[in-house]
Amino acid sequence: MAGKPPQGDPVQDAPQVAAPKHAAAGLPAIGHSLRVAQQQMGVRRTALTLLRVNQKEGFDCPGCAWPEPEHRHKAEFCENGAKAVAEEATLRRVTPDFFAAHTVADLATRSGYWLGQQGRLTHPMYLAEGAEHYAPVSWERAFDIIAEELTALGSPDEALFYTSGRTSNEAAFLYQLFAREYGTNNLPDCSNMCHESSGSALSETIGIGKGSVLLEDLYKADLIIVAGQNPGTNHPRMLSALEKAKANGARIITVNPLPEAGMERFKNPQTPQGMLKGAALTDLFLQIRIGGDQALFRLLNKLILETEGAVDEAFVSEHTHGYEEFAQSARAADWDETLTATGLTRAQIDETLRMVLASKRTIVCWAMGLTQHKHSVPTIREVVNFLLLRGNIGRPGAGVCPVRGHSNVQGDRTMGIFERPAPAFLDALEREFGFAPPREHGYDVVRAIRAMRDDKAKVFFAMGGNFVSASPDTEVTEAAMRRARLTVHVSTKLNRSHAVTGARALILPTLGRTERDLQGSGEQVVTVEDSMGMVHASRGRLEPASEHLLSETAIVCRLARRVLGDESRTPWEEFEKDYATVRDRIARVVPGFEDFNARVAEPGGFALPHAPRDERRFPTATGKANFTAAPVEYPKLPEGRLLLQTLRSHDQYNTTIYGLDDRYRGIKNGRRVVLVNPEDAHELGLADGSYTDLVSEWQDGVERRAPGFRVVHYPTARGCAAAYYPETNVLVPLDATADTSNTPASKSVVVRLEQSAAN
Ligand code: SF4
Repeated sequence: MAGKPPQGDPVQDAPQVAAPKHAAAGLPAIGHSLRVAQQQMGVRRTALTLLRVNQKEGFDCPGCAWPEPEHRHKAEFCENGAKAVAEEATLRRVTPDFFAAHTVADLATRSGYWLGQQGRLTHPMYLAEGAEHYAPVSWERAFDIIAEELTALGSPDEALFYTSGRTSNEAAFLYQLFAREYGTNNLPDCSNMCHESSGSALSETIGIGKGSVLLEDLYKADLIIVAGQNPGTNHPRMLSALEKAKANGARIITVNPLPEAGMERFKNPQTPQGMLKGAALTDLFLQIRIGGDQALFRLLNKLILETEGAVDEAFVSEHTHGYEEFAQSARAADWDETLTATGLTRAQIDETLRMVLASKRTIVCWAMGLTQHKHSVPTIREVVNFLLLRGNIGRPGAGVCPVRGHSNVQGDRTMGIFERPAPAFLDALEREFGFAPPREHGYDVVRAIRAMRDDKAKVFFAMGGNFVSASPDTEVTEAAMRRARLTVHVSTKLNRSHAVTGARALILPTLGRTERDLQGSGEQVVTVEDSMGMVHASRGRLEPASEHLLSETAIVCRLARRVLGDESRTPWEEFEKDYATVRDRIARVVPGFEDFNARVAEPGGFALPHAPRDERRFPTATGKANFTAAPVEYPKLPEGRLLLQTLRSHDQYNTTIYGLDDRYRGIKNGRRVVLVNPEDAHELGLADGSYTDLVSEWQDGVERRAPGFRVVHYPTARGCAAAYYPETNVLVPLDATADTSNTPASKSVVVRLEQSAAN
């Protein structure tokens, strides 16, 4: 019944396994979307809400950051978008009675799925020092508690201000402004754990840490390479764009250790033809070994260099730097080493080269499969080398396309949520607001965890998200969090981070994207920036889940007034009353947002400038696009070990668990499963259906264990295994990060599989 959470917990993790699917979406996607929506919202609210998502006068999907097409369908959402909306617009409520019935210790024993299914938070809640239960607290008292702890710190750098990628541009801009006026750059964000490697590599090579592709470019491309990404689950409407590109003549190469249904065939629910037959997407599937992507692109670059007339000499000589050094290192690429690193065949690479050379407009799309490895930054630089060689940057239908996760993760970074802000941004902030922002770089996610572990940070404030579940090295992270004096979470729903607290803790319930945001000057819109740099408005229409909620923007403004007091000359009250005044300031501080209010009032919003795409101008240290030459790296496996990648199921969005099924992979009613290649399983003596403990081994000599996983014989690449996070984040060492970007290396964890007591 709508509004009633599932009874009983822990939810039995009893996975049933069937053959994986070979097509995504279609009628089943419609069925699942409506079933989940009805369970959470009931029929009427489902219709009202789903018909507004991603519409020009509607609200932005709180799921991923995939852009909206110019022409919007009546139902402009995917199955996982429907789940994300249903979870937020649910009729289920977590009231003070719920907290009276559950101690924090009890909540800590509950699964993430169960916590998330309890519904929307309704009241600010406070866990006093030594208390067992959260109790209701007034907003004023809550801000007093935070001010007490912040002013008691020895330095502002003992405070951490975390951001999850759902935060709107307006709230994010004010949040960073508050943190900097308070005196710190400790602004870790979820981007540190996902596309930081993309930002680092692209900023260095093309001068801007963002993709250079717009949706129209995908439709114009004649070759699209999708590497280390599973769009069918993580960016489902991307499949529509790929289907359209195919219809326009594009060919698609998929590079992934796992065959994914979404890249095999897409049954577009928007068309009868699509629903019944669907469209085959992938023309060439390269089932690469985990971490073999740099070696693959390096060899392709060698082969392009060795092919007469294949290099765009004019583009290279006019727009690039470092070509000779790069070409020398690329020509040294070794076939045998590449075949070892990739697990691919010579024939597959030859076919890839043929498709590359036949292409005049190539796009490379990627996600976590490229960004969460020790050598991710050199890997993405190699992808840029690959595109520069044939002039595939700043040409319609060509370019780099890192596909972002959270709906506004790119926008938050653009608004200044970054622990390593550019001096020019701080100068503009100082000019606009008349205070001297801190210049010393702050902590990213991994450094923030170390700082809490080492008692260098004592107050943790999170704007959204589920920090402890999203972070690596779960036991270390949770112990570090528990050392804090105060933990504060601005949230819409319950999650594990509310049960892993500092000595004192606060839960501050906030409005969701689907809800009306009424402030002093009337109804407010917020803005977001999608994965392709399109900025647009989002306006919720539903009545808030509770009269006690505050918007993210209001929370930041009231907190700032309470903490900074009369010393601050920033007009926080004015900002809270009318978000247009926030956008006026953004227009003066952040390049590309000139005339922000007028431009975002246009239906569909506007595209931010991107010099490499728009003008083939590269704002890098050399003023050119930079070729780079780094040694080829790939994970080496000791005997009897496997390389594990942590990933999402189809019933999951980041750490939000919508359900216990992963239907495209044939798994139902269970999450503690490990996908193992049948030949590897045979060699390791692991029968399908047996249970195993996953034990990660890392240079710190610490063994990290995740017990009781059901072995699923699955067509993964040889030597490569896969299992879901957050359950396997415990296996990822805190210090196992990507060079330069410090992103947790969650996609390449060396594990041994031990027979489990559960057998
Ligand atoms: S593709 Fe992403 S943004 Fe679009 S509806 Fe699905 S989850 Fe939401």
